[in-house]
Amino acid sequence: MANLNSSFSNLKQRYLFALIAEKTSAYSKNELINLGIGDIARPLLSPIADAVSHAVYEMTCVDTLKGYGPETGYSFLKKAILENEYEKLNFQEHEIFISEGINPEITVFHELISSPLKVGLQDPCYPAYHDSLVIGGLINPKNKPSYFNSSELSPFFPSIPKEKLDLIYLCSPNNPTGVALNRTELKAWVDYALENESIILYDGAYESFIRSPDVPKSIYEIENAKYCAVEFRSFSKSAGFTGLRCGYVVCPDTIEKNNLNLNQLWTKYKTIRSNGVSYPVQKGAEKTFDPEVKKLLKNQIDSYLDQTKFLKQALSELGLATFGGIDAPFIFLKTPEGYTSWEFFDFLLQEHKIVVVPGSGFGQNGEGYVRLSGLITESTFTRAKMKFEQLVKCGLYETHR
Ligand code: PLP
Repeated sequence: MANLNSSFSNLKQRYLFALIAEKTSAYSKNELINLGIGDIARPLLSPIADAVSHAVYEMTCVDTLKGYGPETGYSFLKKAILENEYEKLNFQEHEIFISEGINPEITVFHELISSPLKVGLQDPCYPAYHDSLVIGGLINPKNKPSYFNSSELSPFFPSIPKEKLDLIYLCSPNNPTGVALNRTELKAWVDYALENESIILYDGAYESFIRSPDVPKSIYEIENAKYCAVEFRSFSKSAGFTGLRCGYVVCPDTIEKNNLNLNQLWTKYKTIRSNGVSYPVQKGAEKTFDPEVKKLLKNQIDSYLDQTKFLKQALSELGLATFGGIDAPFIFLKTPEGYTSWEFFDFLLQEHKIVVVPGSGFGQNGEGYVRLSGLITESTFTRAKMKFEQLVKCGLYETHR
């Protein structure tokens, strides 16, 4: 008998988005101000669409036809990434792996590391890390992960653990908190990993939103991170590729454990598991580095950030405590006294028709918070602006009392 993988039964039931959909289904879409969105809202830029279409048409001609591409990505895109993103960091093409985004890579990377593993996770964090480790049987009721506590002084800064961990997942700026690690905080993690011979999987999904000068865009800006960290990047949020699908992994060839080289293992893994990302999509991704397109993309991110900044300002004028929202499109809002995450979700929905995401859906430490997103269309923002201006004038509970 073929037994099915029983590790699936160790997955926590996550009703988060299903429950949000259920609770909001009683309202028409137009009456809601949906600030719960984690997806992009602005359309793909037309020069990128043109590059993709042109590449598709190249495939209609026998002389320019592209079949299977290199498993780890075309050299033209790796070169563009190295020149534009890692210019001073001295990586080479074989250390860049083109992917279909962060999700498919960061959820399997643990397969390169032999178990049993001591895993460390931020709390709250993107749930896919935890769930993929559960499916892989690496975390289970007998081998639970360590969660980094946040200190009172620096909420949501993951504090360095006292115990020795093998594999650490860090996301900066983090989803859902929107909090980014500064240079000193990130250096403490790199030093910890080097000292404990751990590997850091560094999720940089929101790197393009970083504006603070003391927040590194890449973990490799920290000295010696090449000896302990693998970085995951994506065009999803930086260039509106959530539907097109393209990203990359930087796996340095300087990480060695038990006489094996991590880069060589990942190269082998990709060669076995992947037939590469489609040529047109890689051409589209290459176009994002065109100087004119880069400017347009920066404006797009800036406008998401401006929207986020407005929301954060309005929330603090309402006397509410917020985190994040400076180097990320997410604001983590502390619920008012006496409200759980879901209770405040219900209050905002019922009283103000505002949709947010309960922080408790991202981990235990997310309880007592909700996530608001600035990844919204201009028209949603216009409605949100009017709503928040009215709330600031009349107070949050005006309709409630
Ligand atoms: N990592 C984080 C922290 C995310 O929030 C998301 C998407 O929301 C992803 C990864 C997925 O990225 P991709 O679209 O590149 O698979």
